[in-house]
Amino acid sequence: MKLTVLGSGTSVPHPHRSSPAFWLQTSVGSILLDIGPDAPHRMAEEQVDWPNLDSIWISHFHLDHFGGLAPFLFSLRWSPQTRERSKPLKLFGPLGLKNVINAINDANNYRLFQLPFPVELIEVAANASFEILPSVAATTTKTPHTKESLALTLTDTGGKVLAYTSDTGFNDELANLAKGADLLLMECSFRRNKSIQTHLELSEVMRVAEQAAPTRMLLGHLYPEWDGVDLAFEAGALWHGEVRSEIIEAVDGLKLEF
Ligand SMILES: [Zn+2]
Ligand SMILES: [Zn+2]
Repeated sequence: MKLTVLGSGTSVPHPHRSSPAFWLQTSVGSILLDIGPDAPHRMAEEQVDWPNLDSIWISHFHLDHFGGLAPFLFSLRWSPQTRERSKPLKLFGPLGLKNVINAINDANNYRLFQLPFPVELIEVAANASFEILPSVAATTTKTPHTKESLALTLTDTGGKVLAYTSDTGFNDELANLAKGADLLLMECSFRRNKSIQTHLELSEVMRVAEQAAPTRMLLGHLYPEWDGVDLAFEAGALWHGEVRSEIIEAVDGLKLEF
């Protein structure tokens, strides 16, 4: 699998950190993990094959993760690159996905689903198992962030595992998610003394690393307080014991293969 960071930031406008979105290329197709408002143009900027995108995963309905969906669907009707497309685009997300996108669609006769190809909306519950691409297995885990928010764990045809927490507060489930992951894509919103329980700060991220030791951890959803701070260095300073996971700061445009 090959992951491209489209957005390492949050909802806060930032000169070089776009809102959350990650492009995942597998041997059997592509998945967009979250679709923040900057995602449509970031896909073009990174020259990924967006006209043939197979699946979109929406972790929750906060607009920094979801706000690019309606504009992207709107664009697919008018883009020359999708005029000949016939294969479906699959949208996966928590229960309530249909309600939210249909409410936007109906607000102004946008006709978001009148595209040259079919769009399938698939709602998944917590602890669900499904195929997000042919032969790519996915499971969901409830996260303490919003009432619908879910983490996603993917296993590709070669047995490689990616876990994506998206936004989350701390709980013991995170270590279970991280165990055995070749790449744990995790939020690390704050440095320390977080003012909100529904996000993570670095010390909590490092607790997960110590308990579960995923091969690599890619830390994103970075608020502007991380500007000018060496995240990997700070992570190392918090480590008690042997360093077993590689800690990587997400940066827009970063590409990782695993
Ligand atoms: Zn967010
Ligand atoms: Zn959120």
